Amino acid sequence: MKIYNFNAGPSVLPETVIKKSAQAVIDYHQHGLSLLEISHRSKDFLEILEKTTNLVKRLMNLNDGYAVLFLQGGATLQFTMVPYNLMKKEAAYLDTGIWANKAIQEARKFGKVRIIFSGIEKNYSYISKNYHIPDHVDYFHCTSNNTIVGTQMKNFPISSIPMICDMSSDIFSRKLDFCQFGLIYASAQKNISSAGMTIVIVRKEILGKIKKEIPSYLDYKIHIKNKSILNTPNIFSIYTSMLTLEWIEKKGGISILEKENQQKAKLLYEEIDRNNLFENKIHKEDRSNMNVTFFLKKKHLESKFNETWEKENIVGLDGHRSLGGYRASIYNALPLESVQFLISIMKEFEKKFS
Ligand SMILES: *Cc1c(COP(=O)(O)O)cnc(C)c1O
Repeated sequence: MKIYNFNAGPSVLPETVIKKSAQAVIDYHQHGLSLLEISHRSKDFLEILEKTTNLVKRLMNLNDGYAVLFLQGGATLQFTMVPYNLMKKEAAYLDTGIWANKAIQEARKFGKVRIIFSGIEKNYSYISKNYHIPDHVDYFHCTSNNTIVGTQMKNFPISSIPMICDMSSDIFSRKLDFCQFGLIYASAQKNISSAGMTIVIVRKEILGKIKKEIPSYLDYKIHIKNKSILNTPNIFSIYTSMLTLEWIEKKGGISILEKENQQKAKLLYEEIDRNNLFENKIHKEDRSNMNVTFFLKKKHLESKFNETWEKENIVGLDGHRSLGGYRASIYNALPLESVQFLISIMKEFEKKFS
């Protein structure tokens, strides 16, 4: 049965990736063992780890100054690890959404947080382009894509302060100069793999500048030294990441995905803007190409609309529980046809109820 999966995370993955990863769970490379049964110190896994690391470096064009880590604890643990490793006194944060705000709450436990822009008063419906990063802060933290409200940073500031970015919901979705970042983190369950693994990409030279002792699992330097196997990593999620990254490389890399993502988002926003029954509340230039949020103008039609899309095997279209409305997450692996299908449903619904 064809399902149109607009889930926000865990979310859609390429069909070939699911098949290969399912096969590996049954029998990894015809060795007679499941991927779930092999040691994290085995040659098989060390190969997977090396391949995945190299794919990340190649796809993102990272230079040798960067280390790639595969950790656990989600992006949520990074809200703590970042200040633990990098904050001496003060850091600058952009408050562009609910996740960004959570990162701020954690950072406050380590020092002074200077919020240099907050969109909270305007329901996070836009991202300022006029904030200023003070010269004396230890780092600057931003969220490239705000998964819940549906905004995305289209530009990043130029500054000598290390730039830390939560890319959980748009990593590998568009071409960027990734070497402009001091540290990038992304939990895997949106654009990469299964939940339970977080990719951290860090420019090594920004580490080691604070004096206090850091608990081992929270210390990036110790993970780098141990090549992501300080403890038992999430073998399954790392393997599935490798498959997704191979899929991206085979397609032609991030720039191809970027074009496809732009096309999908453009079609869907055009329909929302055109359709009499729906609206999007985000400033046009800040609209996310990954999470498209929209609302019915007439709230009493909600149950009818829900009935309509649920009947058509569309899943995951509900907005985040804190916002209501609708959210179509149109990540890398979501086929164009799924967007076209949703648009056709919205058009039909308009005909019936407008
Ligand atoms: C999903 C998400 C998170 C939280 O990720 P977990 O893996 O659940 O900790 C953090 N930041 C952003 C931008 C997200 O989309």
